[in-house]
This record gives sequence, C-alpha cells and structure tokens, in this order.
Amino acid sequence: MQLIDGNQIASTLIAELRAEVAALPGRKPCLALVRVGEDPASVSYVRKKEKTAAEIGVTSRVILPPVTISQAELFALIDQLNADPDVDGILVQSPLPKHIDEVAVFRRVAPEKDVDGFNTLNLGKVAQEDDTGFVACTPAGIMELLARSGVDLKGRHVVVLGRSLIVGKPVALLALQKRAGANGTVTICHSATTNLAALTRQADVLIAAIGRPEFVTADMVKPGAVVIDVGINRVADATRKTGYRLVGDVAFDTVAPLCSRITPVPGGVGPMTVAMLMRNTIKARRQRPVA
Ligand code: NDP
Repeated sequence: MQLIDGNQIASTLIAELRAEVAALPGRKPCLALVRVGEDPASVSYVRKKEKTAAEIGVTSRVILPPVTISQAELFALIDQLNADPDVDGILVQSPLPKHIDEVAVFRRVAPEKDVDGFNTLNLGKVAQEDDTGFVACTPAGIMELLARSGVDLKGRHVVVLGRSLIVGKPVALLALQKRAGANGTVTICHSATTNLAALTRQADVLIAAIGRPEFVTADMVKPGAVVIDVGINRVADATRKTGYRLVGDVAFDTVAPLCSRITPVPGGVGPMTVAMLMRNTIKARRQRPVA
C-alpha cells in the first residue's frame, strides 16, 4: 500500500505557484475571502487560505460580515467585489447561515472571478470540457492528486460516493472527461442507492465524499483499489486537547492494507483544495485584462 501524501504534493504545487506569481508582470493576484459568521471550521479554513495566499504572493482581502447579514446585503457586497478592478477572485466560504440561499450566492459571483467554481457557467464548462472556466477546488485537487501519483483513470471503474455540487458531481464529471488522465467509467452513489457495497466493491478507484465518519469499511473495497477519502469529520475524542479528532469517510486502519493507494485524513485531499484555489486565483488574474 502506498500513501498518497497530499501535504507533500500540495507543497510542491505551492512552490510552483509561488514561482509563477513571482514571474507575473504587474499587479499581484488578489483574492477576496468572504466569511459570514464564526463557524469554527470556516474560521480555520479561511485562515489557512489567507496564510497560503501570503506564502505564494497572492494578496488576500478578508471580509467578515456578521451572521445576521441579509441575502440582499450579501449580494450588494458581492456586486461591489465583482465591480472592483483590483479583485481577481472571490470566495464565499460555505456553509452560509440557513436564511441565505447558498446556490443563489454562488450564482451572484461574476463567472470570471468565481475561483471556487460553483457558478452555473463554470459548472457547465466542466460538462463541456471547456478549459477557460474554473473547476471547483476540491474536485480539481482530487484529479491533481491522482495525476501526480501516476493514477490514470482511463478504462477504470471510478465509483464516487456522494453527489454534492461541491464535490461528488463535479469530480464525477472530471473523471468522465475525454482527456488524458481521465476517461473513467463512472458510477455515482448517494443516499437512495440500493446495494451500495456491491457497487463500491467494483471500484478500481473509489472516491468517498459523503460526510459520514468511517463509513467505507474493508468489506466495501476491492483489493488493490485506489481510495480517495474526501471526508473531513470531527469525532469526539477526550484524549485530545480540542476534544475531537478528524476522521475521513473511510475506516482508514482496516481499509488501507487492502488498497494499492489511499489518501489519509488529514493530509490527503484537504491541502490540495487550498492549493487549487490559489491556482484558480492566478488563472483569474491572467485571464482578466489589467490596466
Ligand atoms: P454533502 O453533505 O453536501 O453531500 C453528501 C453526499 O453524500 C450527498 O450526495 C448524500 O446523498 C450522500 N450520502 C450521505 N449519506 C449517505 C449514505 N449513508 N449513503 C450513501 N450516500 C450518502 O457533503 P459534501 O460533498 O459537501 O462533503 C462531503 C464530505 O467531504 C464532508 O465530510 C466534507 O467535510 C468533506 N469535504 C472536504 C473537503 C476537502 O477539502 N477535503 C472539501 C469539501 C467537503 P443525497 O444527495 O442523497 O443526500
């Protein structure tokens, strides 16, 4: 079994991006990070994004509206960032408070600044295999991890667990694309799938993104499979200072010995998500005419 080390692959990518930014003429790329309220996971994700941006030479602008912000006020803020010539990329951290329609917010971000890749146009470009769009960061990070680990999906059965707009659907579309590294035969499973284990057992490459701690057990995995664990779940752990530990959607200890390759949690897909956000921000800066 070989561990796919997301920390190491992400740090190689970050070094490449730092060199790319250093060589960019003119203004450095600028990323606006909007975090509504104080959700603890969001606080840590946005802090990490800000820190990585600084490491690469991407300017970040963090905007922290209160949890009581109305949808109209959030739209007005996004409109302002859309119109700001100094901002290349906009990320609105999810989850948003319940009174705000998240998909409507994703649609409000101008497609050319939508470095999160959740705008309708950018999701559509993934289906159309149009490289001018932005691919959502976690799915893009999964594809990059696979490519940099030498895993070619061509002709292989890729089973995706989960059909969210953020991970499951876009990663399934990417695996399906008719291009080098992809060309997989894709099955998507969700909560209404019957006989789920019979499907996951057929997977040459299993991508688990359901948000259920250690859901995928050894009996659900084909020996020799590549397993990508997207899940980040907090489970209570009294032995930790924080009172919790992070586990994936895969029961790592029992599944790992079966696999040819597997990503750990933490240290697998997570670091790639942030690196891909930076890559998208640099792309946005390159694609926008700069005065
Ligand atoms: P969502 O909750 O939006 O989607 C979960 C999906 O899993 C849904 O499609 C749901 O089915 C399906 N599902 C849930 N329970 C089951 C079950 N028992 N059997 C089969 N399918 C099931 O989650 P996300 O896609 O946003 O996130 C998934 C996980 O990935 C989470 O742990 C999240 O924290 C993590 N994540 C990690 C990221 C990273 O950077 N590493 C980034 C984003 C997410 P249905 O559609 O039928 O409800």
